Amino acid sequence: MDNWTKHIREINRVTLSFTDNREDDFRQYYFDNSIITTRVSFALLAFIYGFFSYLDSVVAENYFNLFLYIRFVIVVPMLLLVFALSFSKSFIKYWQELLFVTYLTAAIGIISMIVLLPNYVIYSNGMMLIFLAGSVFIKLRFLLGSIAGWISILVYNVVSLVFFDIEVNIIITNNFFFVGAVVIGMFASYHAEIFDRRNFELLRQIAKKNQEIEETNESLEKKVESRTKLLNVRNEELQNEIARRIVIEQELIGAKEKAEQSDKLKSAFLANMSHEIRTPMNGIIGFANLLPDAEDEEELHEFIEIIKSNGDHLLDLINDIIDLSKIEAGILDVHKKTFNLNVLTKEIYDLFLIDHNVIDKKLSVKINNGLEDEKANIVTDRIRLKQMLINLVNNACKYSDKGEIELGYSVDGNRLSVYVKDEGIGISEEQQENIFNRFMQVTLNNTPNRESKGLGLAITKTYLKMMGGNIKVRSKLNVGSEFSFYLPIEFDD
Ligand code: ADP
Repeated sequence: MDNWTKHIREINRVTLSFTDNREDDFRQYYFDNSIITTRVSFALLAFIYGFFSYLDSVVAENYFNLFLYIRFVIVVPMLLLVFALSFSKSFIKYWQELLFVTYLTAAIGIISMIVLLPNYVIYSNGMMLIFLAGSVFIKLRFLLGSIAGWISILVYNVVSLVFFDIEVNIIITNNFFFVGAVVIGMFASYHAEIFDRRNFELLRQIAKKNQEIEETNESLEKKVESRTKLLNVRNEELQNEIARRIVIEQELIGAKEKAEQSDKLKSAFLANMSHEIRTPMNGIIGFANLLPDAEDEEELHEFIEIIKSNGDHLLDLINDIIDLSKIEAGILDVHKKTFNLNVLTKEIYDLFLIDHNVIDKKLSVKINNGLEDEKANIVTDRIRLKQMLINLVNNACKYSDKGEIELGYSVDGNRLSVYVKDEGIGISEEQQENIFNRFMQVTLNNTPNRESKGLGLAITKTYLKMMGGNIKVRSKLNVGSEFSFYLPIEFDD
């Protein structure tokens, strides 16, 4: 209400127009809301205006033709013309003026009848219908409607008094009713228009509020959207961070486990190493002490032989340990060079022909070359490869009591595959998993005559890892073993 009271102050009290630019909008609104009523009223009024000619036929006598003329040549066509024009697009521009003129025309038509037949009350009643229709039915706005009403009264009085000799009583009586009708009509149309304007204003405010709400909603949606985007980005960052931390954590756990493992390995290695060194050292020192007490030359030679053999074993052991330490420290490099692989296998063959295991146990050694001599020039670390082959063939001889030892190889593209087969004591399945670990002398307890350090396979496996290859074993207890490894090589034509 407060709002409305404020707005009502912005309305001209006489014309009821808004004093600002809302007036144009209101006119459009008023037109849109009134046009149907206006059309209906004009159609109906044309009918009523025409239909009332029936009463003329009863009372008009001499004027009947004139009245017919007024009704059907002037007023009814005018009403129908306005009805037809109401469908034209430009009607909005002049509709109020047209309604005003039509109101006056219809009124003057009836006034003519009143002054010509002043004693018939039916025409004054007709005038009341005109006032009624003009003020509340046809949708003529307050100001024009009121003016038309008062002009009609004025015309009636002027014509009655100036051009006709009519009883004053009748004129006064008619004026009472006419003025009453116009005043009541003014009130009605005044309030109707105020009501329309208030509705218009309320709708306008609702539309404005709606727009504000929509704008607020839109900006809220935008805010929510940008916040959501921000949150998504933040979320993604956090998830990345979490993933990064998980990786770091896993790396740390891995590093910790590695450190612990290597710590354990080092302790085990040290314990084993001291044990391994002590055994030949004991032999050397023990027999060195016995030297002066040798009973004869033969025994002296025997002691010296034992000391020499223990010395050799110790030297081998120390060499292996040094190699392993170098590997651990990462200072053992791969030195590639070109050499003939078949020459290398021949060297191994020659070496083992004079091996005491081979001679003592009458083992046969066989070489199976995978390439012809002239095509066997390969590039890799010859020293390491030779050492690995010696390790494997040496083990095969050491852990065999009979049968054949076979060393062979094949080449597939740049991949060299080597195998060493024997018909020896074999390795049980559970022990096969351990033999590549350092100091894992599987046979230590049950084959006392086999000199064993438990380092050869560990070194071989580490070399292969360094050179990009790997080793595996297939073995059956008391049937034999086959060690095979692969290694990437290059060719030198
Ligand atoms: P070592 O032979 O000095 O003990 P290795 O690392 O070469 O050390 O071998 C580890 C263990 O694997 C040996 O102690 C032995 O029990 C077993 N082994 C290796 N090669 C053979 C083989 N050809 N036949 C049977 N057992 C083998």
